[in-house]
Amino acid sequence: MDFRLSDEQQLLRHTVREFAEAEIRPHVMEWDEAQHFPMDLLPKLAALGLTGIQFPEEYGGAAMSAVDYCICIEELARVCPAIALSVAAHNGLCTSHIAMFGDDALKSRYLPRLVGGEVLGAWGLTEANAGSDAAGMRTVAVRQGDKWVLDGSKQFITHGTIGGVMVVIAVTDRSRGHRGISAFVVEQGTPGMRPGKKENKLGMRASDTSEVIFEDCHIPAAQILGDEGQGFINTLQVLDAGRIGIAALSVGLAQGAYEAARAYALERRQFGQPIAAFQAIQWKLADNATRIEAARLLTYRAAYLKDRGVRTTRESSMAKLFASEIAVKAADDCVQIHGGYGFVKDYPAEKFFRDVKLLTIGEGTSEIQRLVIARQLLGQ
Ligand SMILES: Cc1cc2nc3c(=O)[nH]c(=O)nc-3n(C[C@H](O)[C@H](O)[C@H](O)COP(=O)(O)OP(=O)(O)OC[C@H]3O[C@@H](n4cnc5c(N)ncnc54)[C@H](O)[C@@H]3O)c2cc1C
Repeated sequence: MDFRLSDEQQLLRHTVREFAEAEIRPHVMEWDEAQHFPMDLLPKLAALGLTGIQFPEEYGGAAMSAVDYCICIEELARVCPAIALSVAAHNGLCTSHIAMFGDDALKSRYLPRLVGGEVLGAWGLTEANAGSDAAGMRTVAVRQGDKWVLDGSKQFITHGTIGGVMVVIAVTDRSRGHRGISAFVVEQGTPGMRPGKKENKLGMRASDTSEVIFEDCHIPAAQILGDEGQGFINTLQVLDAGRIGIAALSVGLAQGAYEAARAYALERRQFGQPIAAFQAIQWKLADNATRIEAARLLTYRAAYLKDRGVRTTRESSMAKLFASEIAVKAADDCVQIHGGYGFVKDYPAEKFFRDVKLLTIGEGTSEIQRLVIARQLLGQ
């Protein structure tokens, strides 16, 4: 067993950190307040390999490992969780689904554009009445000759407005339950597909989230992703990997909040001394630093197993559950340590506090992670 990152991984961390500090940090509040995803950041992310982190070089990808992926997402989240969320959704949901289950034609058509940062990827599973119970979706895809016709709508889709390529999960045979669900690739601009309401969110505001509507949307039969009827089963595998990304995002956010709290505690003076001299503050810092290390280990372990081809349903959910919940605590303590200054927008504490709540909800709520873990423990 070796807990050290390799020299290359340390260099990767350093490089992504410098990039985030230089290209993202100065604009964090501007993008947050405008609810604006900066499309001009895409080529810069692509130049570092961050739009194709784990994808093969033959498609222009950086061919990094799952552990490397965690390092990248962590470092982006340490500075701006919303940008990290967009990068994670682009890599870990849309592009991953195509890379894992697309045939050669779909991979050749879409991966170079996604991986090269020419377009952002979106991934549509959730619907207004089917969130945790995703298999209860209503969106349908009906085969008509050499086309599939999509009808329905998807809710809370990251890059629903600005995504150039979207993976959509839809019912193809309702009589077969979750074995009657398939996945499709749809390009923005396809007649019959349009973004609906753009959400006005509590946090993660620089990451675009909207409804996507399909009305008599015809797509070529070859746009099916994987076998007909396997879409939901494949989705669970995509989520096994995606949840490691959300765990890494949680670790990065918690790290950013902890660092902000530590710096403030050393600088802020009350009763004639820095507040870091008070044991109440020291214990908060100590507890958070300890929890963050534990979350990072769970996350890297899940990623390490994924890199070795192990199915990580249990490990991914454990990492996502624990890391997102300790991140909520880290962001809460960060505000508390800042006192009144934690409640205003001049310090990063309030944004971490708003952004963090998504992490116990997206890609499966904490309750659903516990359900997944319990099923694994009980062999159900
Ligand atoms: C900013 C943002 C970005 C998102 N991006 C995407 C995206 O790109 N693609 C996509 O497909 N989806 C996306 N989502 C959707 C997200 O995955 C869902 O919101 C999430 O899965 C929860 O579904 P829901 O909101 O319908 O909540 P519900 O399922 O209605 O849950 C409500 C509450 O009930 C609890 N609950 C539900 N079922 C059970 C149960 N069996 N046992 C115990 N408790 C239960 C939940 O844990 C939760 O506390 C995004 C959401 C947000 C907010």
